[in-house]
Amino acid sequence: MEKKLSIAIDGPAGAGKTTQAKAVAKVLGFTYVDTGAMYRTLALYMKEAGKTMEEVPAALKDVEMRIVREKSGDQKMFLGTRDVTGLIRTPEISKLASDISAIPAVREYLLETQRQLARENNVVMEGRDIGTVILPDATLKVFLTADLDARAWRRGRQMEPGTYLLSRLAEEIKARDENDSKRAEAPLTKAEDAYFLDCSRLTIKETTEAILEMWKAATAEKSA
Ligand code: C5P
Repeated sequence: MEKKLSIAIDGPAGAGKTTQAKAVAKVLGFTYVDTGAMYRTLALYMKEAGKTMEEVPAALKDVEMRIVREKSGDQKMFLGTRDVTGLIRTPEISKLASDISAIPAVREYLLETQRQLARENNVVMEGRDIGTVILPDATLKVFLTADLDARAWRRGRQMEPGTYLLSRLAEEIKARDENDSKRAEAPLTKAEDAYFLDCSRLTIKETTEAILEMWKAATAEKSA
C-alpha cells in the first residue's frame, strides 16, 4: 500500500487546532481526525460508569467507542449506539479527559486506532502528541499556539453567552495545559522538526494560509 500523507497539528487547549485541522483537511481533501474527542469519549464513559482513576485501565476493555465520519468531513463520537459528540464538550469532561490521558494504558489503547487511521487515509490529525509519538514521520508537523488571553477568549465564544467568566476559562485552560505538559507519558511538547505557529494575532483565514504555506514547503522539501 502506498504511504499516506499526514499533517500533525499539536498545541495547547483553545489554540484553534480543531478549526485549522478541519479547514486544512477540507482544502487538501484529507480526513480530519480529532484525537482529543477520543480521550473525551473515554472520559465520559468512565464518568458514567462511576470508575475511579485506578479502575480505568481494567475498564478499557468494556468501552465500545466508535468514530464515525460524516459526509461533511466532521467526526462523530459514539459509545455503543449513542451519539455522544455533544456531551463530551463540557468543562468537566475536558478536565477528566486531561486526567485520564496521563494513564499509560489509556494512551496505549488509543495509539493503534490513531495510527491505523493514518495508515489508511491521508490525514490532518490534531492532538497533543501526534508529531512526537503517534506520527513521528508525519509529512508536516505544526505546533499551533496562542497566548492565554486569546485562547480563553476564543473558548468563551464557543460557550453559551453569560455562562462562563473569561478569567475562569483562562484558569481552567492554564491548569489543563500544565497537566498535559507535565505528565510523564507523551507530554504536550513541540516536536523538534515541527513548525511553530503563534496565531494570537492572526485571523482564522491567515492561520490556515500559513499552514498551507508550510505544507507547500514541507512537500517541496520531501520531493526534492
Ligand atoms: O483537544 P482536546 O481539548 O479535545 O483534548 C482533551 C484532552 O485530551 C487534552 O486536554 C489532553 O489531556 C488529552 N489529549 C491528549 N493527547 C491527544 C489529544 C488529547 O492527551 N493527542
